[in-house]
Amino acid sequence: MTEQKTETRTFEADVSRLLHMMVHSVYSDRDVFLRELISNAADACEKLRFEAVSRPELLGDDAKPRITIAADPDNKELVVEDNGIGMSRDEMAEALGTIARSGTRAFLERVEAGKAAEDTQLIGQFGVGFYSAFMVADRVDVISRQAGSDEAFRWSSDGKGTYEIAPAPLEAAPRRGTRVVLHLMEDATSYATPYRLEGLAKSQSGHVPVPITLVEKPGAEPRDIADGTALWVRQKSEIKAEEYTDFYRSIAGQYDEPASTIHFRAEGRQEYSVLAFVPGSRPFDLFDQDRKGRMKLYVRRVFITDDADLLPRYLRFVRGLVDSADLPLNVSREMIQESPLLASIRKGVTNRMLADLAKTAENDAEAFAKIWENFGVVLKEGLYEDYERREQLLKLARFRSTASGEGWRSLADYIGAMKEGQKAIFFIAGDDRARLEASPQLEGFRARGIEVLLLTDPVDSFWVTMAPEFDGKPFKSVTQGAAELADVALPEDAAKPDVETSSDIATFLAFVKATLGDEVSDVKASDRLTESAVCLVAPEHGPDRQFERLLNAAGRLDKAAKPILEINPRHARVAALAKLGDDEKAFKEDAAHLLYDEARVLDGDKPADAKAFSARLARLIDRGLAKG
Ligand code: ADP
Ligand code: MG
Repeated sequence: MTEQKTETRTFEADVSRLLHMMVHSVYSDRDVFLRELISNAADACEKLRFEAVSRPELLGDDAKPRITIAADPDNKELVVEDNGIGMSRDEMAEALGTIARSGTRAFLERVEAGKAAEDTQLIGQFGVGFYSAFMVADRVDVISRQAGSDEAFRWSSDGKGTYEIAPAPLEAAPRRGTRVVLHLMEDATSYATPYRLEGLAKSQSGHVPVPITLVEKPGAEPRDIADGTALWVRQKSEIKAEEYTDFYRSIAGQYDEPASTIHFRAEGRQEYSVLAFVPGSRPFDLFDQDRKGRMKLYVRRVFITDDADLLPRYLRFVRGLVDSADLPLNVSREMIQESPLLASIRKGVTNRMLADLAKTAENDAEAFAKIWENFGVVLKEGLYEDYERREQLLKLARFRSTASGEGWRSLADYIGAMKEGQKAIFFIAGDDRARLEASPQLEGFRARGIEVLLLTDPVDSFWVTMAPEFDGKPFKSVTQGAAELADVALPEDAAKPDVETSSDIATFLAFVKATLGDEVSDVKASDRLTESAVCLVAPEHGPDRQFERLLNAAGRLDKAAKPILEINPRHARVAALAKLGDDEKAFKEDAAHLLYDEARVLDGDKPADAKAFSARLARLIDRGLAKG
């Protein structure tokens, strides 16, 4: 019975916040509302096209999809209408009163935290496109009649907390589809100007796959302003860069420039077209666990789904579409998704994407560096997820290193700069580049001019642990096992270390080991230290220091391996400590513990036992004072 009367409902709280923001924050670009409404109209036409494959009667005598923009400058009104799938009463309440997509709350919080200027650029990505109508209108009416239904409904709101839904007389509704009526704000009346509308629609939405018609004022003859030819079926040579950019913006909901455009048609055993983009900036939800790929699947120009599994997860930043000529249309979406044809398309598209990235890397290092800065961390997931393409991905990978400065190094660069006798690709992993560069573990490498990769993404510890090789060279952590530096000569002018460890030193190392007990797994003379007295390294087998930390933080480590304390036998303080006799035993014990704590602190950890540490430090200070 409620079906028959007018209902007033309250917007979901998040919608109210969003609307408030839309109206009150200063928008650099209100024009985007038109793109959003046209994009919804086109989606509705595409949904109908899909439904009509199995239920052709839905089309009736009106088979051709169409979007109509109608201006009424005198009444300050603007209408965007489609003959698509339409909405039922419940669908309206659901679609125009709530926010479906996860991540929206986080978005709102960021915007409210004052990053508005940057983030309003992202509106289209959040599934909140419709609400952008309230940037230019102080009242919005939506009249919709679902395909195949003999009822129509009218939704209306001023965007201030509530909306109304009521049945609409059929003669005041579209025959099928949705009419969105904007009552324009005083400062937005220029959006009812025909030439403005034509310019905006053509430039922002000229390539949606549904034709667009403009009616300049009530009673005027409709005029076609975009023909709805799908951009991807046109010849590459005939498409201008701006056309690609517009299309990218409408499909990605991002308003920047694509970093790379990939357009090709595969022919042969399988026929399909691909139009895909690497975005110019990071989408907001790149690291959202639930984030799906964003490639749309079409079959012979009929839109099927936007969450088809068309690319592996590590390419989830790519936006675009695949249009297949061979997949069956008259089966369910689920069956299409499971088709072996789709698996082979996926393989083809993935290979092509990687080949294209490789081409950019080779021909335009600067452009590739930008892509890598935005998406390298995602691409690196492929190093452990996609064994077959690991080699290819390692070639693409770029790194910061002790030799990179602000630039990037490829593994080929690294190999080219390896020192005579060097057998491995050395790396150090941690969260912070500056701290890594200050690590004592690097000293011996630096002294020999050996480059060390600085791995600061958590994902690095995972792929590097799978022990890949590149060009026959293994990856080796400088915080693990023996440094094997003796194989690489020191430069002529460097002070030669005293390779013989004296018997004093050997005795001292044994003393430290006995003092520390099972705090450490071993105490060794170090060949990787030149300036510092001590450092910690992980045992040869198992995780390196950083990976152990990550596993520990994730609760995935049963028992942490005891580190090895390396002591620099050439260090003056160490040599002096080694010379002390048994009468100084208590002092030497304190020193042993303090050396271990020093190594922990250098590694970003805390002293092993804070209370004991302060007591030892106090004794040390007292001793200094007594002498002074
Ligand atoms: P999105 O398009 O990302 O889903 P929007 O805020 O733009 O988010 O639209 C919300 C929902 O409203 C759409 O998903 C759709 O269900 C519905 N909708 C909006 N406009 C139309 C339309 N013209 N025809 C049918 N449904 C529509
Ligand atoms: Mg939308």
